Amino acid sequence: MQTTLEARTKVKLEPVPLYIGGEWQETNGVATTPVHNPSTGEVIAETPLCGAKEVDAAVQAAAAAFPAWWETPPTERARVIFKFRMLMEDHFEELVRGNTREHGKTLVESRGDVRRGIEMIEFACGVPSLLMGESLENIARGIDCDTIRQPLGVCAGITPFNFPAMVPLWMYPVAIACGNTFVLKPSEKVPLTALNIARLFEKAGLPKGVLNVVHGGREAVDALLTHPKIKAISFVGSTPIARHIFEVGTKHGKRVQSNGGAKNYVFLMPDADIENSVRGVIEGAYGCAGERCMAASTAVVIGDAANKVLPSLIDAARSLKVGRTDMEAQPNMGPVITRQHRDRVVQLIEAGRKEGAKIAADGRGVKVDGAPNGFFVGATVLDEVQNGMTVAKEEIFGPVLNVMRFEDLDSAIETANRSPYGNGASIFTRSGKAAREFKHRIQCGMVGINIGVPASMAWFPFNGWNESFFGDLHMQGKEGVQFFTQQKVTTTRWFSFGEGDIWHREAGKQDVTAVATRPE
Ligand code: NAD
Repeated sequence: MQTTLEARTKVKLEPVPLYIGGEWQETNGVATTPVHNPSTGEVIAETPLCGAKEVDAAVQAAAAAFPAWWETPPTERARVIFKFRMLMEDHFEELVRGNTREHGKTLVESRGDVRRGIEMIEFACGVPSLLMGESLENIARGIDCDTIRQPLGVCAGITPFNFPAMVPLWMYPVAIACGNTFVLKPSEKVPLTALNIARLFEKAGLPKGVLNVVHGGREAVDALLTHPKIKAISFVGSTPIARHIFEVGTKHGKRVQSNGGAKNYVFLMPDADIENSVRGVIEGAYGCAGERCMAASTAVVIGDAANKVLPSLIDAARSLKVGRTDMEAQPNMGPVITRQHRDRVVQLIEAGRKEGAKIAADGRGVKVDGAPNGFFVGATVLDEVQNGMTVAKEEIFGPVLNVMRFEDLDSAIETANRSPYGNGASIFTRSGKAAREFKHRIQCGMVGINIGVPASMAWFPFNGWNESFFGDLHMQGKEGVQFFTQQKVTTTRWFSFGEGDIWHREAGKQDVTAVATRPE
């Protein structure tokens, strides 16, 4: 891997071009923001911070490509997407390593990121069946009714840093399979994986302008939100920005699906299988260094689970090895995305301590051999967290597990249901009744029964509730197809068989509604 060299020599910056109308364009004179290798802290690329001009060029290219792409039969569109899927497999390991280098997750986690993205492409290959409409003959005598699904036009996607492969692929394969054209603005912190994947789609034969990629932050996003030619916006990111996107996008007449942040609760009942529940919570809390909207950020320990499960959980957290992920030898957990984010996570741990939480495993000040400038925080457990504390309210988005203790399931559910978020919640138990009660009463959109991270797969909606989602139709599954299409309902009546019609003995003499009337 290149990064062993990087430790000794100056890193050659990777280009971050725009992809507009099928052309890879360098930007000149545009301000940039650095992309780091979080394992070493080195700058590996500079993302251009585009504005309205570049966004408009991308939208115009997408608008120009739309009529021909819409007329392309869905089966032909699916064939290009199928080829794209094959190329993703061919380049799988390359994508994984690039992803780890700009994001910092372990290779195993990057494989998961790319694999989940490929599943979305596989789902998109089957979109023609989901585009099929409905029909009903004889809604009145001689009158038939049917629906068809048509694309919206130009759609846009704005994505976060934490899943550089998967999250953009939640959006554009389905949008494009439905006949739309697309403008993607990936996170300015991780633009390279998105570009590597777009190159494969181009290689698969995607016509020019069907997918476009622009870069930047707020300015580029605001230009997308207000552009008159954009019909729909898909967003994934933190809750304040998700709300902003929904409000501004809908005000400008666009369809919007906007996924926000979360705090997710994992309930541990006294009868939980200790080994499996500890594994589930550890993977849920510390996988991807806690930078997941479905991270198991709070362990809800009920009754005697505090004695039965918690000690093993704390031991397991303390034994996790943190390290650089850009070499062959892999740690259990990698760095977080930036130095600023590392400092924020450390400040939140300190805020938790000051407000009365007990630090049962302390990841502050962790040192990693050979990587003094990497953005590392070790696995941390904050015990005895109370509902009003800062760490209970804010999404930490780092390797910090809160532990909240309760006497019974009722009071634990009541507390979890006071959260403003609503992505996921899980329960570990051997009791079907407790699990059933939990599933029924917990207020969130994705529920796990003996599963640490109940993130739904491509065929099901990624189903945030409350402030974890703004909009009506979620990403993934059938809702994704509904979001990227609009229905047309046609009601049909024919009055006569027409002049010169020779195939019916009543031709030219009788109204079809009379012909269609059932014999007495
Ligand atoms: P973020 O909100 O900072 O950024 C997301 C996107 O919004 C980026 O493309 C960024 O350039 C853009 N952006 C940032 N500030 C903006 C502003 N002021 N105006 C307009 N656009 C702006 O999120 P992040 O730090 O990249 O990602 C982490 C967040 O994403 C977490 O809160 C996590 O929970 C959330 N997330 C949610 C889901 C989900 O499906 N619910 C999935 C993954 C991540």
